[in-house]
Amino acid sequence: MTILWGVLYGLLGLVVGSFLNVCIYRIPRRIFWAEQNSFCPHCGTKLHWYEMIPVLSWIALRGRCRTCHERISVRYPLVEAGNCLLWVLSYVTFGPGWYSALLCVVFSLLVVGSCIDLDIMELPNGIVIALAVVGIAPFVASFFEGSGLPHDLPWWGYLVGVVAASVPLLAVAFVTRGGIGGGDVKLLAAVGLFAGWKLVLMGALFGIVLGAIGAIVLMVAYGRGRKAMLPLVPALSLGMVVSLLWGDAILAALGL
Ligand SMILES: [Zn+2]
Repeated sequence: MTILWGVLYGLLGLVVGSFLNVCIYRIPRRIFWAEQNSFCPHCGTKLHWYEMIPVLSWIALRGRCRTCHERISVRYPLVEAGNCLLWVLSYVTFGPGWYSALLCVVFSLLVVGSCIDLDIMELPNGIVIALAVVGIAPFVASFFEGSGLPHDLPWWGYLVGVVAASVPLLAVAFVTRGGIGGGDVKLLAAVGLFAGWKLVLMGALFGIVLGAIGAIVLMVAYGRGRKAMLPLVPALSLGMVVSLLWGDAILAALGL
């Protein structure tokens, strides 16, 4: 039964991952959902069902469109496989139930937000709003005993989560004037409601460290002359993934 649940989370993660690719492509271009079926981004040819199987189609077609033979970005299978991995990790860490299911939604929103931020340096407000709406659930659950909430946090801990990391980052953004965007602040506010103040602080800290390492790697790779634009949304998202999955265990290990 346990393995069955894991397979179910994994398969759903793959299928949803495929849908996330559609979101990542269409949201910044404002393409209407019902407008058309999935198509090749280069030649516009509609895709057959066998060209849309997560990960496998990309491998079978060797990363090229079947019609125009243009290269299809490796990001498509990576998003699918990554989302699958995140959903399995959510299940492995928290077991089947409403919390791990909602965490899967949070992870998928972070994946979409990160990829769009990498593409256009902007986090769509729809992603922020969706994260905030999902975040209402743990806050409400914190009022009930035996709600299945994995964190030992009172109701106000979730409300404080909205400002715990976002307000300090906003202050830094004001002082440094640039580098940190409004999207980064909004992301931490929205995900803070879901995570609560402890985990959002930990995630932001991890994210900033990861972002700094990323900036150094970019500088070494491209030389100092190039002004490295640092997309903080993917770094903060990665930090939040770590803290949401293992933050409680890390806090316990540190005796906090
Ligand atoms: Zn094509």
